[in-house]
Amino acid sequence: MDGTLNENDLSRVVSADKAHVWHHLVQHKPFETGDPRIIIEGKGMRVWDQNGKEYIDAVSGAVWTVNVGYGRERIANAVRDQIMKMCYFAQAAGSIPAALFAEKLIEKMPGMSRVYYTNSGSEANEKAFKMVRQIAHKKYGGKKTKILYRERDYHGSTLATMSAGGQDERNMQYGPFAPDFVRVPHCMEYRKHELGLDHLSGREFGIAAANQIEEIILREGPETVGALCLEPVTAGGGVIEAPEGYWDRVQEICKQYDILLHIDEVVCGVGRTGTEWFGYQHYGIKPDFVTMAKGVASGYAAIACMVTTEEVFELFKSNPSDKLDHFRDISTFGGCTAGPAAALENMAIIEEEGLLENCTAMGARMKGNLNALMEKHDIIGDVRGKGLFLGIELVKDRTTKEPVDEKHVMAVVAECGALGVIIGAANRSIPGRNNVLAFSPALIATADDIDAITDAVDQALTKVFG
Ligand code: PMP
Repeated sequence: MDGTLNENDLSRVVSADKAHVWHHLVQHKPFETGDPRIIIEGKGMRVWDQNGKEYIDAVSGAVWTVNVGYGRERIANAVRDQIMKMCYFAQAAGSIPAALFAEKLIEKMPGMSRVYYTNSGSEANEKAFKMVRQIAHKKYGGKKTKILYRERDYHGSTLATMSAGGQDERNMQYGPFAPDFVRVPHCMEYRKHELGLDHLSGREFGIAAANQIEEIILREGPETVGALCLEPVTAGGGVIEAPEGYWDRVQEICKQYDILLHIDEVVCGVGRTGTEWFGYQHYGIKPDFVTMAKGVASGYAAIACMVTTEEVFELFKSNPSDKLDHFRDISTFGGCTAGPAAALENMAIIEEEGLLENCTAMGARMKGNLNALMEKHDIIGDVRGKGLFLGIELVKDRTTKEPVDEKHVMAVVAECGALGVIIGAANRSIPGRNNVLAFSPALIATADDIDAITDAVDQALTKVFG
């Protein structure tokens, strides 16, 4: 860690934080007796806290974000140059980086056409929800306003995105929610008994899981359902890849009932799953809306995008004499040029350094290491994920699949922290059942980094579970 801050400066930072900062997600009571972790510096895969302790960050900024790693000078320079030239103008007008990044992004997304800039994943999802509602009014006489979302998926922290939230623990005490959001079942093979489908496996299970969505559509009335919103690989709900056969059947169902498909790439987007730029591209999905945020600029600037097809775009300019015809929406900071300037460099880095390929190779290595840990630790019930987006589910018994107590999962997370590796926990579908350890190292990870992460997990599991 560099020496620009002395001990006095750092203790002032800690006191100011404790006195005035309201941290996200966490309970503050423990900070009355202890200190919050304050991250002072980052370089590559590593970060340093206020005590000078070094960590390998195995979760890219805690929430799968810093895909190209910390301390990228070329992103900083691009943002600096851009904001000195032109920092902000509302997106009612255009800007150089907004045009160039949209062009580059669309090159990576065949079939898609238009980029709507905003500044968080929640907001990008809200924009798509608003478009679906407006399309219902424009095209279907005010019907087709319902938006289906899936158990275990997460789409954001605002009230409408929480209304589409499949993780109950996050929603408790925040209701009532917005109307016309309807939940469909998850598609997780490891927990297929919850769906009454434990007699099926592989492709047959995938098709049957998708058919459960059709049952909900028929129950609600297809003429009332406008869109289906899904994560390509569920992130915070437990790192869940859909089974074989699922996506083809989902798309058939959407086509049959004239339902728009909204893919939430906030976590998977921009390389996280390896080989492809986006998660949906692994599965032959042809979406109508794609939303993305975290990895778009790897956290160097706040930027999120909602991307649609030309067909959707055309619906919003078919009747120019009608004042209500267009999408009457704005996001103030969607006009910040720092976002697309950073996003352009971020994408260039991924291309020039071959990070999609590295992600695939290192993801395979990490999955191999985690599978080896499964042989050693009975507590691991399942290893899953794609690219450098992986999770292991901890269960008391591999036959009953009863989740381990959440406090033990958090003890493993804490133990890894003490060993100098920051990992995460996922699965907020049922309160108190946060039993998945989650990993999303930067796409620059080396074999040594991956081995160091899985060695720490091995040691932590031994310490907590024996
Ligand atoms: N969708 C998914 C899949 C997410 O994981 C998240 C954030 N964790 C969001 C949407 C919301 O993004 P944001 O926090 O930027 O609003």
